[in-house]
Formats: sequence, C-alpha cells, structure tokens
Amino acid sequence: MIRVTGLEKKFDRLTVLRDITCEIHEGEAISIIGPSGTGKSTFLRCLNLLEKPTGGHIYIDGEDILAKGANIPKLRQKMGMVFQSFNLYAHLTVLENLTLGPMKLLGKTKSAAEEKALELLRTVGLSEKAASFPDELSGGQKQRAAIARCLAMDPKILLFDEPTSALDPTMVSEVLAVIRRLAKAGMTMVIVTHEMEFSKNVSNRVFYMDEGLIYEEGTPQRIFDNPQKEKTKAFINRIRGFSYAVETEDYDFYAMNGAVKTFCEKYLPPKTVRNVLLLTEELTELQTPPYTLALDYYEKKDTLTMTLESEGELADPFKEGAEIDEISATIIRNYIGTVTREQRDNRNVLVMEVRAK
Ligand code: ADP
Ligand code: MG
Repeated sequence: MIRVTGLEKKFDRLTVLRDITCEIHEGEAISIIGPSGTGKSTFLRCLNLLEKPTGGHIYIDGEDILAKGANIPKLRQKMGMVFQSFNLYAHLTVLENLTLGPMKLLGKTKSAAEEKALELLRTVGLSEKAASFPDELSGGQKQRAAIARCLAMDPKILLFDEPTSALDPTMVSEVLAVIRRLAKAGMTMVIVTHEMEFSKNVSNRVFYMDEGLIYEEGTPQRIFDNPQKEKTKAFINRIRGFSYAVETEDYDFYAMNGAVKTFCEKYLPPKTVRNVLLLTEELTELQTPPYTLALDYYEKKDTLTMTLESEGELADPFKEGAEIDEISATIIRNYIGTVTREQRDNRNVLVMEVRAK
C-alpha cells in the first residue's frame, strides 16, 4: 500500500532523514519509536506531504506521490493525520468539525455527512458531545473527536504523531483504547508513540528510528524483548527521559522542581522522590545557566540517572577541591553512585547514577 525507498529530508545542511526504506501493507498497525529529534515527525510529515522530501520515493498504491503532476490534495485525503494538539476548529461544534471536510472536499450532502459523523462519534464514545464546542471537552475527548474527524474523510491510512503526549495522564488510556479498537477493525495505521506498552499491544511491527534511518524493525516481541542492535537496546531499556533547559539565572526553580517531581513520581517511591528533589536542588544550585538537566529511568535495570549538559563549564561536585559546603557534599555523595564525564557534540556532560533505594 505504501512503499518508501531511499527517502531523504534535509533542512538546509541538517540531514534529518538519510535513507528511509520500508513497506506498509494494508491492515498493518506500525508503531514508530525512538529518541526525540530522530525525525519521526518529519517522516510522517513527508508521508502526507506536509514536508517535501529532498530525495527518494514514496509510492502509494503504486503511484509515485513525489512525481510531477501527482494529485496532492487527493493523496492527502487518503491519509488522515492526528497530531499531538487536537487541531479542532474552536468556533464549530464537534458535529460541524466532523462534517465540514466531507461536505467541502468529498461533496457529501449535509445529511449524509451528519449521519456518518454521528456514527463515528458513537465509535469514539462521544455521541453526547455532538453539539458541544471543543472548549467544553476534556483533552481526551478532544483527541477522540480529532480522530473521528480524520475518519470522517474516509482515509485509507491514519497517521498519528504522539497522539497522547499532550494529554493529562488520566486521559491517555481513553485515547489509546480508541486507537486500539481501530487497529482491531483493520485500519491501516502508523503511530509515533512514547507509550511502549501500547506500542507492544497495538502494533504488528515496530520501527525504531535513529541516525536518520529505520535503524531496526521487527515484531513487538523482537524489538521490545530481544532487540539486536546497540542503540535499540539502550532505548528500550530506558523507559522514559525527562529534560529541562535552564536558560538564565532567573529561571523558574519551582516549575523545574515540579516537573522533576511529576516525572519521578511515575517511577519511584515517595521517599526516593524527596531525595531526588533534594539532590536536584543541590546540583542545580552549583551550576551557571544555560545548561540542561535530564533524568532517565531505566526500567529493566531499575536505575535512574541524572545528567547535566552544558556548552560551558559544569560545576563538578565530585572533582577534588570543588568549592562546595559540607552539607551539600554529603547529600550529593549519599545519593549518587557512579559518575561519568563525557563530551557530546562539544558539550560537557556529567552523568550521575542516582541511588534509588
Ligand atoms: P522527532 O519527531 O523524532 O522528535 P522531528 O522530526 O520533529 O523529530 O525533528 C527531527 C530534527 O529535524 C530535529 O533536529 C528538528 O530540530 C529538525 N527539524 C524539524 N522540522 C524542522 C524545520 N521545519 N526546519 C528545520 N529543522 C527542522
Ligand atoms: Mg516528533
């Protein structure tokens, strides 16, 4: 149904996609995973021509969509795209959001469009909200409405770009349930997601993207339980990362602390969360902005690492003669295990393993 060969996308001198080659068959649910910045969104945007690739080919049902004279509006119609943010028209009701496209672009009558829209709203559990405006819906409901709106255009394939990452955690599952149901019904789908459990359950194949390529692909069992290549292994074992950029001296410490707390509470017991917060306070106090603070939790090893990254010098509390008071030093030494220092693209990086227990 979709065949991609040698797809390349450069932004000026930055090569984001180097050589993407893959086939997606009818009825498949493919999930795409990988670190952020590896071009997952760009790949989806190339597929439905929101971005113009700089090389390679994309065939849909045998038709080269990058060829001159390809009917781009028609091809876009074949592919519905669901974004992180819900993109509903705020001034239209939910029902009107669903009927606008089919009436304007598919030439449907109002009554035919409404009949289909109501059926789709039932499918996504929103029958009662047909007359509501987007502002009156929760995030999860908005995203389900956005999915129904895509379906109203009768796409042959649905593309999802992290459909739950803008949602409050309590609303993630209702959206995933809708997507799972579509997969079961045989809808062809490509889903960029950070939800590993979901990816495992919903997809028949997983693409791990890195280095501008589909670095490794396979069944969910293979990718999640038995990845073969180095970077895939590292990524799979890291359940989720969090990073916070501290830009200036006047940064909002409480916002950062809140973000760290929210992240840690997902994975760590309350006592450990308090320790990590203390540690964060001590370590960030020593640093001069701009720098980035990152946390990564590795599920399989049950370890947490804290990473500081800066183009400038990092204050290293573990160096001999570091100017640091006794109390801070004690806290830091108590909670940090192994420390490694490295250079990544001209940035100084300090990786500290946090003693989580
Ligand atoms: P992912 O979705 O995997 O996080 P993206 O596809 O969003 O990654 O981005 C990949 C890289 O391409 C990033 O380095 C990003 O900054 C860059 N990029 C994305 N869109 C543009 C753009 N329109 N112009 C310039 N660079 C871009
Ligand atoms: Mg993205």
